[in-house]
Amino acid sequence: MTKRKIININEDLCNGCGNCVPNCPEGAIQMIDGKARLISDIFCDGLGACIGECPVGAITMVEREAEEYNEKKAMENIIKQGENTIKAHLQHLLDHNELEYYKEAIEFLKEKNIKIPELKKENFFVVVRVQKQLIFQMKIKIFLKKKRVKDYLN
Ligand code: SF4
Repeated sequence: MTKRKIININEDLCNGCGNCVPNCPEGAIQMIDGKARLISDIFCDGLGACIGECPVGAITMVEREAEEYNEKKAMENIIKQGENTIKAHLQHLLDHNELEYYKEAIEFLKEKNIKIPELKKENFFVVVRVQKQLIFQMKIKIFLKKKRVKDYLN
């Protein structure tokens, strides 16, 4: 648990319209018994994509003790919603300069052999930088693996 930004849904204000659900591609919000609910802290990245979609201002950002956001678990929800949602999520991360989460998301897509969607042209250099970092990390992993095998054989 760590103190971080996370959404809060005011149950009294929520009218159950459901607008916030599709606007949270991470799958953090579900409609339960006619009200929007945050189903798990680990799916909320605290970037507030859902906030502007609430017509009654029931969603606010608070700072509280919460489980850390888990990009890979959120991606498991995101990929079920198709390419446009993957694209929107990646763009959302870049717009908020969340490069570590972006990197984790790309790693996840590569692991699952899922096509990485093209993003806005202005993100080109950031995307290339992240790709280079991922290739570098992969080379280090391979190097360490080979070294461990070599050490084991000697
Ligand atoms: S958008 Fe607002 S009012 Fe509508 S379900 Fe979500 S929290 Fe409730």
